[in-house]
Amino acid sequence: MTNTSALPGWNHVYSGKVRDLYRPADDSDGRMLVVASDRVSAFDHVLSPGIPGKGALLTELSLWWFDQLAGADGGRAIPNHLLGQTPPDAVADRAMVVRDLDMQPIECVVRGYLTGSGWAEYRVDGTVCGIPLPAGLFNGDRLPEPIFTPAYKAPLGEHDENISFERTVELVGAERAAQLRDTSIEIYTRAAATAEAKGLVLADTKFEFGVDADGILTLADEVLTSDSSRYWDAATWAAGGTPEERMASFDKQIVRDWLSAEWDKQGTPPELPADIVEKTAGKYRELLERLTAA
Ligand code: ATP
Ligand code: MG
Repeated sequence: MTNTSALPGWNHVYSGKVRDLYRPADDSDGRMLVVASDRVSAFDHVLSPGIPGKGALLTELSLWWFDQLAGADGGRAIPNHLLGQTPPDAVADRAMVVRDLDMQPIECVVRGYLTGSGWAEYRVDGTVCGIPLPAGLFNGDRLPEPIFTPAYKAPLGEHDENISFERTVELVGAERAAQLRDTSIEIYTRAAATAEAKGLVLADTKFEFGVDADGILTLADEVLTSDSSRYWDAATWAAGGTPEERMASFDKQIVRDWLSAEWDKQGTPPELPADIVEKTAGKYRELLERLTAA
């Protein structure tokens, strides 16, 4: 195991559920080091054990997507937090040197398909995060158009909370809220097209944005990874079948499904069995290979 708490020249300042953050030891110069660990979280709990190699896979995937969204996919350049500097050797494959941004307290979720908590709400109310949807949709169906369903980013230890667009406006102001929504939908739409060309469905995803010293809205954190997104195989999805078959996933759903079956979400979650760890690691690797294949 690499010791990530001691990185010469960097001071550890914060650990989220998955990432460890560092600032330069020689006073802050607006840079930050984001190190992705192998920790895996589900339902806002960090689970044990971790997924071997996950931090490196997520970092490689994020870097690939940042490059796509900087214009490699043919679209306009979306400003992102990367500084293009080389991280310390000990964490070279799973760290990014980034600009330390003023983070917006909003998880910018975009859903192009109906599933998960969206499906659960729709079955009861016919809505997703309060947004009315046509009747007659099934678990895994494509939505008429992608929808923005923000969540309030709770402080560590608390659960993120789905909020309305009106609440988002109260939290960050009308102009910023509209910008978060429009940029999130734009990125989702571009990424879904890229994924589709590789035989993958990007069902939903979550972005985090910060504001830089010049007030520019900047894409931060990880982006379009198997932790922050649901990816399905496009051919199996199109073939129909049971929800399980349609939504054969390349993401954290494997962990969520196992945990939902084995745990009542009270107290400490159980240890992940070796086969679930191995299967998740394999699917994360397969997603990276399929997306980045020429
Ligand atoms: P929490 O912050 O509640 O622990 P989390 O479990 O999602 O949430 P991680 O993803 O493990 O946290 O840690 C990454 C943290 O770094 C997040 O709080 C994220 O908002 C923050 N972050 C990501 N990019 C930047 C950036 N460029 N500047 C400042 N903070 C950032
Ligand atoms: Mg996070």
